[in-house]
Formats: sequence, structure tokens, C-alpha cells
Amino acid sequence: CGIFGYVGNKNCIPYIISGLEKLEYRGYDSAGIAYLKDKNLEIKKIVGKVQNLKEILDFNDFSNVGIGHTRWATHGGISVENAHPHTDCEGNIAVVHNGIIENYKELKNFLMSKGHKFRSQTDTEIVPHLLEEMVDKEGMNLEEALKELFKKLEGAFALLIIDKRRSSILYALRKQSPLIVGFGTGENFVASDIPALGDYTERFYYLKDNQMAIVSDKEIKVYDLKTNNYIEVEPIIVPQD
Ligand code: GLU
Repeated sequence: CGIFGYVGNKNCIPYIISGLEKLEYRGYDSAGIAYLKDKNLEIKKIVGKVQNLKEILDFNDFSNVGIGHTRWATHGGISVENAHPHTDCEGNIAVVHNGIIENYKELKNFLMSKGHKFRSQTDTEIVPHLLEEMVDKEGMNLEEALKELFKKLEGAFALLIIDKRRSSILYALRKQSPLIVGFGTGENFVASDIPALGDYTERFYYLKDNQMAIVSDKEIKVYDLKTNNYIEVEPIIVPQD
């Protein structure tokens, strides 16, 4: 039910945890985080509160890129396996998702026929596997695969995606589920709402439906997935007090 992502020159872990705490009011049943450390994907998830997630984290870890999630289960029971982030078979790609992917069953059947092994009962888990199928087996680059992914998914989604092979970028896709990017200095953010970002920046952009943000520490590029164009975005200023 809440999403937070960070790319920048500082440690993402405290940012993500504090962001998830500010999203707690939205209600949730489990929480998790994925971050890149020494070119590996570290994933921690729990059933319960962000406080429980804090208890299993190693705050000595340092990472410049990460994503976090609070889940309100819709597909698959409340369990650690079903908590986000979800990954592909090889563990290269991590995904958090708010919303519902309506056509996940047919996509899951297709992916299972291609040999993908699923670890959860969620609709979300098809996302990393579908990207893996397109990148590793069909030879697409990740950005092409994300554009294809968007065409294949039906339903509502706010998605954040990181790939350890493209370790300085965070991808955010939005269709009928809120997602906001925040502009920092040497760091950029993505979250479900402005209160989660208000301590870090006053400059925001509300992603619109069918938009993908490609977020690095220095810039946020926004791509329209329907018209296949990059678009100029002007941040709005929301003073925080
Ligand atoms: N449909 C996904 C799930 O059940 C995401 C739920 C959410 O929005 O938190 O895991």
C-alpha cells in the first residue's frame, strides 16, 4: 500500500525505512526492502510493522540505490514469501508493486511454460520474471523490456524496479496508482505520496498514467509509454513546514 525508492550519494536504507514509516497510515500487513550492495541485491522482508523490518536490518550496510514497500495483500495470503520486493529466478531484478495486475494468471502460465519457478502467490511476481524472460532470453535491454512490460500488463499499478546490472538507476512505472518523484541534490526519490518525501525535498512531480520515470542520482527522465516520447517535466514546489 506504500512505495518508497531512493537513488543518490547517501545511504538509502535509513531514507527508505523512514519513508515507509511515513506511509504507515495507509495501512498494511507486511513490509520489505531491496537494496544494491557490492553489486548484489539484498532483500529483507517481514510480516507486520516497519518496526519489525527495522529489527532485522543491518544499519551498517551502505547502499546508494534501494526500494521499499508496505503491502496490503490482494493476491496471495499474508506471508513473508508474498511480501515485496519480488525477484526473478536469477535474483538480478527486484520489484515492488502497489495495485492489482488483472491478467497475471495468463502471464504466469506463459512464464511457467518457459521454465520460471515462482516463490509467491502474488500477482506481482510475474513482473520480475517477465522482465527476466525479455532481457535474458529475448535479448532486449531493460528499457525496451519495461516498455513491452507496460503493454502486456492489465490493471492498476505503481511499480518500482531495480536491476543489479544497472545499479545506478531506479525505474518507476505508473498506471492508475499514485506515484510521485521528488527532486533532490545529488539524490532523487520516488514515493506514493508527498508526506513521505517532505523531509527531503520541496520539489515534486506527480507521475501521470502511462508514464515511466528513469531516476538516477543526477536526473529524472520521464517517458510517456503511450506516445513513446520523453517529456519535459517541470517540478511543482510544495513548501514543507
Ligand atoms: N497485489 C499486490 C499483492 O497482493 C500488491 C498489493 C499492494 O498494493 O500492496 O501483493
